[in-house]
Amino acid sequence: MNKIVLASNNAGKLKEFAQLLAPLGIEVLPQSAFNVSEAEEPHVTFVENALAKARHCARATGLPALADDSGLCVAALGGAPGVQSARYAGAPKSDARNNEKLLAELKSTTDRRAHFTCVLVLVHHADDPQPIICEGEWHGEILTAPRGGEGFGYDPLFGVPELGKSAAELSHEEKNTRSHRGQAVRALVARLKPC
Ligand code: IMP
Repeated sequence: MNKIVLASNNAGKLKEFAQLLAPLGIEVLPQSAFNVSEAEEPHVTFVENALAKARHCARATGLPALADDSGLCVAALGGAPGVQSARYAGAPKSDARNNEKLLAELKSTTDRRAHFTCVLVLVHHADDPQPIICEGEWHGEILTAPRGGEGFGYDPLFGVPELGKSAAELSHEEKNTRSHRGQAVRALVARLKPC
């Protein structure tokens, strides 16, 4: 396996995966280079959605494909917004409206526990019966007001108790060493390394 197609149109993710997998002799190609259409994400779990995206991309390109799915799960909301994280406050996608909705939903709630989850799925071909699946979780708590200007999504509301900071107050490197995505990517690299 020396070429993998990334089932995402996010240029930041492409750069990150390309850098991490290059030392293993793996070239990461964008799905846009193959005109892959947007995959459906109809499922209620992260792993099913990531698998659907990876299979769709592998089928369209004939190459191994890597997909990720991530989101925020809040304990007091039964795991919501979960797979709906990007569109929690409805279309069009808006981080600001998602954050406002989350604060409103938790207004009178003292249980502020939450975690980010990231699932990575690598299929060797579209009907691969044994995909590589790697996960990461980042536990914290939802703050009562946004803080910080870094990151994206729910970062300003995601408190990191041991640092006394929000995720949006961390540098890219500080976030990466702790985050759900950082953990999942490191697990994938470890799985792909030749023994
Ligand atoms: P995706 O899987 O990259 O499309 O992420 C889904 C959604 O989950 C994003 O649009 C964000 O709302 C949320 N999310 C995922 N990862 C993070 C993160 O590291 N910080 C803040 N929000 C995130």
